[in-house]
Amino acid sequence: MTTIVVGAGILGLSVAVHLLRQGNDRVVVVDAANPADATTGAGAGFVGLWAAGYADFFTATDLALEQYGIDFYRQLAEGADIGCRTNGNLYLATDDDGWRRWIAPIPDHPFAPPETRTLDAADVTRVTDGAVATGAVVGGVLHPGGIQISAGRATRAMAAQARALGAELRPHTRVTGLLTSDGAVTGIRTEHGDLPADQVVLASGAWTNDLLAEVGYRVPLLRIVASRVVSPRSGVSARLPTIMVPDHFGLWVREHRGGLTYGNGDGYAPLSDLSGRAQPTGRRPVFPELIDRLGTKLVPRLRKLLPDADISAGYWLQGIPCMTPDRRFLAGPVPGAPGLSVLAGDNEAGVTHGPGLGRVVAGLLTGTEWVDPGSYRLERFDPAEFPTEQAIQAAMPARR
Ligand SMILES: Cc1cc2nc3c(=O)[nH]c(=O)nc-3n(C[C@H](O)[C@H](O)[C@H](O)COP(=O)(O)OP(=O)(O)OC[C@H]3O[C@@H](n4cnc5c(N)ncnc54)[C@H](O)[C@@H]3O)c2cc1C
Repeated sequence: MTTIVVGAGILGLSVAVHLLRQGNDRVVVVDAANPADATTGAGAGFVGLWAAGYADFFTATDLALEQYGIDFYRQLAEGADIGCRTNGNLYLATDDDGWRRWIAPIPDHPFAPPETRTLDAADVTRVTDGAVATGAVVGGVLHPGGIQISAGRATRAMAAQARALGAELRPHTRVTGLLTSDGAVTGIRTEHGDLPADQVVLASGAWTNDLLAEVGYRVPLLRIVASRVVSPRSGVSARLPTIMVPDHFGLWVREHRGGLTYGNGDGYAPLSDLSGRAQPTGRRPVFPELIDRLGTKLVPRLRKLLPDADISAGYWLQGIPCMTPDRRFLAGPVPGAPGLSVLAGDNEAGVTHGPGLGRVVAGLLTGTEWVDPGSYRLERFDPAEFPTEQAIQAAMPARR
């Protein structure tokens, strides 16, 4: 059985690793660039139990994927340096309204892990080794089991693992179309020639609909350019938990090689709002105007929160996560196109859920049962209902 996976981001490589673990004998991963060159390489690497009170559109099934992701990366870290640290995920409020709206419900959430800790402002300063100023927050909640990783290094480690299990990786090979016979997909066309297969999985991120158009199908994806700033090494504690501050327009910040990496909604915009500039397959976008906006709007607030840290922009990265109307993932067979499956709609949570989603898709193809994949089915959307990316944005639920 030959399976071709199009896309060597974290989602495609996770499908490949799990297919091989589940006994699929021949897996070929094809990418226009190298593993993790696209959105995955910009991923900030926060991995946590987001369904446990941080994002209410996630469910018990997503929670199972989140815990699986944590366990998967911890195991991956035993054989490769993927920057994996169990520092915990810390959710903070900077005012009473932020506390009431975003943070107070977390410890009472039915999925809250038993080790959840509610912290006052002084506790927050203590668990951050003095990085967060006591006067800057009203309190927080800590999930001590949360981890951080380097998404790029983890993906390259998964590529090595896939190869060791027998996968063939074909980087720098752009897929230009799908081979079909009697309506079924029988392989791919590439710039270097055709490749036949028994089944094809599209894990092509922001470019998924380009290839789906070949079989007359479309999934509702809102492409968002998301920015991540990295500050110079300045002695930030390696024990710093990953920090989320919902009342600072979704601020996230964590330690990165002795400095910080951070971002928030000020550094995000729908690709369609930014310009008509085409995004070449597999290349990360470059929109400096979003970094300027972060500098003007977020940086003054971040200075108050972390007064002693160097938060200057050493360098920055951008990627294109894709949102869905219900903010849940798309994983499964493409209706009306036997032989073709999709894993897409990462909802900017593909690092966390990637290992679990790869296991789900592999399980659907090999008949290996795990969680119920029903809520990820593509058929839950009528593509005609979302003729534009703006229509998807209008339908999306808020985080809580
Ligand atoms: C700034 C930022 C911060 C983030 N932080 C987090 C976080 O903390 N935690 C978290 O869980 N998630 C986070 N994410 C989201 C996460 O990075 C994504 O969900 C994930 O990387 C998506 O992976 P992917 O494999 O779908 O996409 P990609 O990495 O884009 O992979 C798709 C691949 O398909 C290939 N491809 C496409 N079309 C073709 C073609 N025709 N032929 C050949 N190859 C093709 C591309 O070259 C590409 O390599 C963040 C994202 C960004 C941008």
